[in-house]
Order: sequence, then structure tokens, then C-alpha cells
Amino acid sequence: MEITLLGTGSPMIDPNRAGPSTLVAAGGQAFLVDCGRGVLMRAAAAGVGAANLTALLLTHLHSDHITDLSDVITTRWVTTFVPTPLPIIGPPGTKAVVEATLAALAPDISYRIAHHADITEPPSVQVHEFSEGQVWDSGGQERSDSGINTDGVRITVAPTDHRPVEPTIAFRIEHGGASVVLAGDTVPCSSLDELARGANALVHTVIRKDLVEQMPAQRIRDILDYHSSVEQAAATAARAGVGTLVLTHYVPPLVPGQEDQWRALAAGEFDGRVELGNDLLRVSVD
Ligand SMILES: [Zn+2]
Ligand SMILES: [Zn+2]
Repeated sequence: MEITLLGTGSPMIDPNRAGPSTLVAAGGQAFLVDCGRGVLMRAAAAGVGAANLTALLLTHLHSDHITDLSDVITTRWVTTFVPTPLPIIGPPGTKAVVEATLAALAPDISYRIAHHADITEPPSVQVHEFSEGQVWDSGGQERSDSGINTDGVRITVAPTDHRPVEPTIAFRIEHGGASVVLAGDTVPCSSLDELARGANALVHTVIRKDLVEQMPAQRIRDILDYHSSVEQAAATAARAGVGTLVLTHYVPPLVPGQEDQWRALAAGEFDGRVELGNDLLRVSVD
């Protein structure tokens, strides 16, 4: 399996970092986890187009994680020549957001259907909502109590804690004996510890609480209570016994040259390998 950090940014804009989004390649399939700003530009740089996506997985519906949902839906639609539904898997509420996005795209959809003889149908999406205790009912793909199993790739979810944003979920993607967990935005919680137990890699969003605490604007300091710090994400990785911790969604933006500072904060809590860096960082997992 291979992880590519497509976007390592956050709402605190850094011109060199796209919005939160991670690509997980497994068994010849490509799973896009969240779709922040600029995601398809970064995916193209990684050699993956919207037409190649197996599914879009959404950890939660915070705008920074779904900014480019309309781009993913539209580009998928106009670059596939045989209608290929895009599975979108997210927490309850995802369906309404996707429907509202399609409603906002209604003029564009009508223009393209009117203009292209070979486009006769609107974009095709299949939304599957998950939360604790639910499994992906993909209508056609194999279903099991512990998750879904399709072409050797299994995906399971567990709730996370990003309150008052809820529901929020983390994903575990497994293939060929390897496993990658994507935590999304969350404070430490036992359900994430459980989902991540023994995984080869944990991709976790982080903020530098030591730096955010010093920022003058209360609106920025508001984020302290519903995100994990670097140290907390590292402690989660240690409790779960994962092999590699991959940090992303840096708040404030990671300044090139300061990677070791961030890595040292993680190393205080976690003995394993720590990966962080710029957009398009690749981490192989096996
Ligand atoms: Zn969030
Ligand atoms: Zn976020």
C-alpha cells in the first residue's frame, strides 16, 4: 500500500499547501480521503485523475475537508466515457451535502448535457453513510459485519471525537496484510485507539498547540479544544501500537526547515517512524 499526502494544509492558508486530502493506493485501487482545496491538482501531480478514483472517503463535513467536492464530482463525470458511479463514503449528513452540491451544479449539468451528444446523464454518485456499528452497504459489493471487502481491500470505520462537529469518522483500509488508518480531525479517543490497533500506519491531522496558544485571535485559539496536538497524535500512535505515524493538516503551516522540531515533539511520545513534509509526500506501507 502507498500513502500520498495530497494536501497538508488547513483553513490557515499556505500558498504551498493544498487543503486536507490523502490518497491511499491499495491493490491497484485509489481511495481519496477528504477533498480539500486543490485536491485534483495534487492528485494529477501524483498521477491519479478523478476517473481513476475507486471511492471518495470523507472523515467529516467541515468545509476545509470537502471544499473541492464539486470539482471531484464534476471532473469525474466529464472525464469518464462509460458512466462510472463514484462511491462516496462518509458520516451521516454526507448524503444531504452531496445532494446540495449536485443542486448547486444543476446549471452546469444542464449545459453539458445540452452541449455534448455523448453526455446524457447527470453525474453518478453512490453515497454510503457510516457511523458506529454501521457497515458499508454498497448494494452489489460484498458486505460483512466487520466492514466491506472488495477486490481484496477492506475498509472499516469508527467514530472519532471532533465535537461539536459530529458525527466524524476514521477509516481503516487493509490490503494484503497491510493496514492504514486515517484519523481525520479528532481529539484522542478510545474508538480511534481501537480502530488503529496494530496498523502499519496512522495518518493523523495535527495542530501545534504550543504555537496556536500564543496566537492573539480567540477565533484561532478556539481550535485548540477539538484537535490533537502533535504530542497527542503521537501518544495515540503509541497506544495503538502502529508502525508509522504520518502527520498532516499542519496548523500553523509547517515551515520548511522546521520538520525536525515537529518530529521531536512526536518522538517524545512515540518510538516508531514519523513522517511529515510537503504536499505529495509518499509513504510506502507493507
Ligand atoms: Zn474538522
Ligand atoms: Zn480540518
